[in-house]
Amino acid sequence: MRVDAVTLFPGMIDSPLSESIVGRARAEGFLELGFSNPRDYAEDRHRTVDDKPYGGGTGMVMMAEPLYKAIRKVRKKNSFVILLTPKGRRFDQSLALALAKKKHLIFICGHYEGIDERVTPLADLELSIGDYVLTGGEPAAVAVIDAVTRLIPGVLKKGDATVNETFTGGLLEAPHYTRPGVWRGRKVPEALLSGNHKRIAEWRRERAEELTVKSRPDLAPAEKKKKKALK
Ligand code: SAM
Repeated sequence: MRVDAVTLFPGMIDSPLSESIVGRARAEGFLELGFSNPRDYAEDRHRTVDDKPYGGGTGMVMMAEPLYKAIRKVRKKNSFVILLTPKGRRFDQSLALALAKKKHLIFICGHYEGIDERVTPLADLELSIGDYVLTGGEPAAVAVIDAVTRLIPGVLKKGDATVNETFTGGLLEAPHYTRPGVWRGRKVPEALLSGNHKRIAEWRRERAEELTVKSRPDLAPAEKKKKKALK
């Protein structure tokens, strides 16, 4: 997959996505990450990319023309253009799965007070990573690119790593344990040591349901919520 970020601060994306699994995915060619900087298309000798908002108010707004040219530089016929904004559709795992099937994603990262509204129609999707306001779209791009990259077939070495995990099966994932079997007096649940695959699967299912009802009742199956309410 090819991903381009339209950003004034490419290092804020390039650096975190050079580490760990996504860094390896880039090195192995699963993810090709590029950048297009609106500052390269500024029209004055100060390389200005922002200006005061019409109508007054605090902060600066990213100007339309440098942004437009930076997008045009990387946009192709099959590109899917995503504008990062706290006003957009909330990002979730089902959207990550859909985006992982695209050939080319372009992320437009706003900064300061945001971008000139007239650029918005260039986007196929307005996307938010949650109900809070970041200083810029770059950390949002990192979160989305990370979540999407690990779903590209071949990026995670164990095929089923993304199958049973949180959100994918509709439940939060059951807790994990590793060695030692007893840590500071706390034991690993007996079912996990039993070697009995059916029992382990049942234990995981029960813990996943319990955890979902407790932490994310909005995701829990209706009958499980009722049981909890009756207890
Ligand atoms: N003035 C804007 C508002 O109130 O909606 C907020 C602008 S924010 C300080 C600057 C940029 O950060 C935005 O243009 C957007 O690209 C990015 N951003 C901030 N919060 C975000 C979020 N929750 N999800 C995605 N992008 C976000």
